[in-house]
Amino acid sequence: MINITFPDSNTREYPSGVTGYEIAQSLSSQLARDILSITVNGQVLDITSPITTNATIKLHKWDDVEGKHAFWHSSAHLLAEALESLYPGMKFGIGPAIENGFYYDVDAGNEVIKESDLVIIENKMLELARLKNTYHRSDISKKDALDFFSQKNDEYKLELINDLTDGTITLYKQGNFTDLCRGPHLPSTEPIKAVKLLSIAGAYWRGDEKRKQLTRIYGITFPKQKLLDEYLVLLEEAKKRDHRKIGKELELFTFSANVGQGLPLWLPKGAALRERLENFLKKIQREHDYQQVITPHIGLKELYVISGHYAKYGKDSFQPINTPAEGEEFLLKPMNCPHHCEIYKSKPRSYKDLPLRLAEFGTVYRYEQSGELHGLTRVRGFTQDDAHLFCRPDQLKDEFKKVIDIVLYIFKTLDFPDFTCQVSLRDKTNHEKYIGSDDNWEKAEQAIIEACEEKKLSTIIEYGEAAFYGPKLDFMVRDAIGRKWQLGTIQVDYNLPERFELEYIGSDNQKHRPVMIHRAPFGSMERFVAVLIEHTAGKFPLWLTPEQAVILPISEKYNDYAKKVLKLLNNSDIRAVLDDRNEKIGKKIRDNELKKIPYLLIVGEKEMEMNEISVRKQGEGDKGAMKITDYIDFVNTEVKNMLQYEINNDNI
Ligand SMILES: [Zn+2]
Ligand SMILES: [Zn+2]
Repeated sequence: MINITFPDSNTREYPSGVTGYEIAQSLSSQLARDILSITVNGQVLDITSPITTNATIKLHKWDDVEGKHAFWHSSAHLLAEALESLYPGMKFGIGPAIENGFYYDVDAGNEVIKESDLVIIENKMLELARLKNTYHRSDISKKDALDFFSQKNDEYKLELINDLTDGTITLYKQGNFTDLCRGPHLPSTEPIKAVKLLSIAGAYWRGDEKRKQLTRIYGITFPKQKLLDEYLVLLEEAKKRDHRKIGKELELFTFSANVGQGLPLWLPKGAALRERLENFLKKIQREHDYQQVITPHIGLKELYVISGHYAKYGKDSFQPINTPAEGEEFLLKPMNCPHHCEIYKSKPRSYKDLPLRLAEFGTVYRYEQSGELHGLTRVRGFTQDDAHLFCRPDQLKDEFKKVIDIVLYIFKTLDFPDFTCQVSLRDKTNHEKYIGSDDNWEKAEQAIIEACEEKKLSTIIEYGEAAFYGPKLDFMVRDAIGRKWQLGTIQVDYNLPERFELEYIGSDNQKHRPVMIHRAPFGSMERFVAVLIEHTAGKFPLWLTPEQAVILPISEKYNDYAKKVLKLLNNSDIRAVLDDRNEKIGKKIRDNELKKIPYLLIVGEKEMEMNEISVRKQGEGDKGAMKITDYIDFVNTEVKNMLQYEINNDNI
């Protein structure tokens, strides 16, 4: 017998060799129908895998990431089976589950798969799923695996197998299709009830643009048709909120083929909005004793060799710029950190000077393949809301807490109430791949964990997810339609202070090395504005929105009064515009509601006589008539309340 421990710490005895499915069955027949995969001692397995040692387990249903993963990965195999039966001789690359669904990269040979073929493939998948074929796992020697895929003439699988160690290779077979795969998979195709193939794209084999371009087919599947229907509604909603579409409608940014791909041009309204965001952040940073610096867009190649960025970005990124006479080599700045390290080094530092907090809205450039570019979320030039905090090891926890405060303030002010945090720590056992002493790492990891506890953040701790140079804390927000975006990273770094030989004189009069924290709560201005647009559908909060109010005269007779109102509002820091088109008031209201301007101010005979405006608020309707001065106070108070910040909220 073996002991099986459940997530609630309850333990039960089962015969050795028991499977996840049998365990579920022993608990309830409904659970047995619902489980899709199982975690056994930290490893996700098939629910048909025998368990032969004492184990801590977790059963995964559709609602768990691990459950969906097994479901979608199995669906990728089903897609491949359908493709193989429709296009005999097709070759297969890889077919993983992704955050929403799965894809398979295939080499269709001389065939071209078109959007219009997707329905036929979907129907084939459903037909095959109804056969309820089992996913059968087999362990196989490297030689047999190579023989099998040589016979199939599938050079992609052969290449993958060549990279694997003998004794670790497994195949999964369902129906007539066999794939090289580690699993885990569903027991059979039975639960796959609804299929949608979403799109076709090109993808280079192994992400290498020098190699063959394969056809990538994206899809998603569900255990119920109703879930697929709901997902398609969500996709429609996401389309409406697409920041590229709204950014164009609201005249926030544009791209020009002459300037170049992936290089956004901020239009006046977008630039002003971005400036308001920057000022908003600068203000809190001032309260936290950050100091703004400005550094150039390029630096000598040598600088990035020291920092290690050349090794990371060098040959795969923009190539050096050479000066004709002196033969210097400059690189476009991929990161602001090296420049800030040089500012740290510009004079001797004492322990009393720390923490030194250097902030910059620094524009950086990274080469992205043109196929990877997407609106403002994947660009080649972007501005980070960057800061580097240089501190003593004993100051780490406090610095972390202060950065967390800033991040939480941003989430609150910009209305992201739903977020999760992940602490990324070292691998529990293998410490060799990390730079910095064990002692420092332990202190830093402890500092992050305690800072999160003291700020009452509920966090997920992931071992082995830290960068080689330090542990970090990441924030993920959920937007208004439930999509997750990564925003805000706080990263400890032992590497750059070492590489740049940064020092301070301690109270013991000895030289010490500071610790560095990189942090960018927005990430980049471009990406953040994109997320904000998609989150709000372009209905920005009042303090941020390009136009706060539009004045609508009922007829031309009141245009002069409307102009007077406009002037008063603009002189009182309210961003107002005038719609004096010769149109019916009903049409003006409808047109301006579409522009997502929060306040519509209607003026006619009565308003002019009384020195008033009639106020309509988007989404709330009529607010009645108000004196102009009262309205000004009202809006300014609303904005002020939105930006309220309590600095000493350490003990909330
Ligand atoms: Zn697989
Ligand atoms: Zn940095």
